[in-house]
Amino acid sequence: MSSAISDFIRNRIRDDIENDVVDGSIVTRFPPHPNGYLHIGHAKSICLNFGVAKEFGGKTYLRFDDTNPLKESTEFVASIQEDVRWLGFDWEDRLTFASDYFDQLYGFAEQLVESGRAYVCDLSADEIRATRGTLTEPGSNSPYRERSVAENLDLFRHMRAGEFEEGSRVLRAKIDMASPNLHLRDPVLYRIMHAKHHRTGNKWCIYPMYDFTHCICDALEGITHSLCTLEFEDNRPLYDWVLENVSINFHPPQIEFSRLGLEFNVMSKRILTTLVDDGHVDGWDDPRLPTISGLRRRGVPPEAIRDFCARVGVTKQVNLIETSLLDFCVRNALEDTSPRAMAVIDPLPVDVINFEGDDIALEAPNHSKNPDLGIRQLSFGKELFIERSDFLESASKKQRKLTLNGIARLRYGFIVECVDVVKDSEGNPTELKVKYVPESRSGQDTSGLKPRSTLHWVSGANAVSAKFRLFEHLFNVREPGQGDLGDELNPTSKIEKDGLVEKVVIDEAWDRCQFERNGYFVRESDSTAATPVFNRIVSLSSGVR
Ligand code: ATP
Ligand code: MG
Repeated sequence: MSSAISDFIRNRIRDDIENDVVDGSIVTRFPPHPNGYLHIGHAKSICLNFGVAKEFGGKTYLRFDDTNPLKESTEFVASIQEDVRWLGFDWEDRLTFASDYFDQLYGFAEQLVESGRAYVCDLSADEIRATRGTLTEPGSNSPYRERSVAENLDLFRHMRAGEFEEGSRVLRAKIDMASPNLHLRDPVLYRIMHAKHHRTGNKWCIYPMYDFTHCICDALEGITHSLCTLEFEDNRPLYDWVLENVSINFHPPQIEFSRLGLEFNVMSKRILTTLVDDGHVDGWDDPRLPTISGLRRRGVPPEAIRDFCARVGVTKQVNLIETSLLDFCVRNALEDTSPRAMAVIDPLPVDVINFEGDDIALEAPNHSKNPDLGIRQLSFGKELFIERSDFLESASKKQRKLTLNGIARLRYGFIVECVDVVKDSEGNPTELKVKYVPESRSGQDTSGLKPRSTLHWVSGANAVSAKFRLFEHLFNVREPGQGDLGDELNPTSKIEKDGLVEKVVIDEAWDRCQFERNGYFVRESDSTAATPVFNRIVSLSSGVR
């Protein structure tokens, strides 16, 4: 089995298969900490791990790295599973938790103690930090480093039995306090935490550290390629050290790739948590967030995210991807399949002064290039609405507006000429008086007129009120997260408008569609509001979001 895609990881896997380094099928894992919601950076890792296994006929585990009971919750566990599934991936019966292995992990830790490769250290966290040295200076040995195996074993067992206070002792690997790699300077393997775990309850009061847990879980699950992000490059020697010093005869290679960064967005769970907890956004699924649940609520289809991840690719280069690439993928995914209708987001009433009698029924295709999506009825009458921004009393030809005494075509309808404008006391237009040209009916136009602009519109008889939410970047700086959040947040990232939408969209429950000239929109599904709410997924052209 091979793969058509080529990158340094897939090439490596291809080599490993060819050279019989891998015995059997490829096994990967996606190992989230259940301490937040997934974001588009995680999607890159999900697409990579599940994608690679699929392409090479292998398997993928979804493994929760739940070693810090204080930060984990079942809410996060549930949301992560929902998001991975929604992205289109299936772990089948391979859903695991690091906590499934707590007994085995403890056993391996005792092995390290028994072989003199781990010791119980009574230094506080601050003292450990202070004696760790720096990149240029070696650390210094702990005064507890030379404890006997018997004493260490005894202390470690008492740690486990809950006889010591939190923070009073840790188990450390005995490696080398002068190692140029700081991760090898007697790293902590276990800490005391008198905290209830979301799965193991009060069974444990000592919890293993990431560096000790991760490699062992990988080995126990037979992971053939442990793919992680570049910040773990320096942890790799420790990953290898642990596996070389416990009795497991399987040793996965750790391979690092660069994290995904998206401009005007943050991927840090810490900052995302602050945004949610401090109410800067409306929950983890706020459509402005790069979380998977936010993108879903925004109306982004999962195939657009997969396409985006594929286009970004896998490298070791640090990358900050432009949001226009994501927008491009979203438009691509929606273009051919989304029905189109008209909505006026900021309505300006239009009185057709020469219109008399019954409304005229018109027909419009639901997609200009995809006849499978059918046709719908429009009605043209005396009371219409156009977009406020489509009228300018006087405008240059380039601006393509309806002007006073100018003409414009109303899409799928008639040409109108603006003959008067009614204004409020501040001079803002409140209504246009227009004349329509009866012989200019779309498709049967014999008027000989050539208006420069074609506008979207709705008729009063054929439209219903709706709310429209338009989103801009949540941050106004390209690489947020460096300074004060308050200064970096864009105050106009969410704009709400009261407008009108063609009735058909509501009657036929089009939950995702294009509103001509305004962009792609999704109807809020859990909307209990009296009027329907539409979120803009993406505008139609780049530059505007
Ligand atoms: P933390 O470890 O601080 O909780 P995290 O963002 O690293 O946050 P994890 O739950 O550890 O979150 O991530 C699960 C997996 O997703 C890891 O393998 C990690 O390397 C990968 N991952 C996280 N962020 C990105 C990103 N921006 N791009 C690509 N992969 C990522
Ligand atoms: Mg992480």
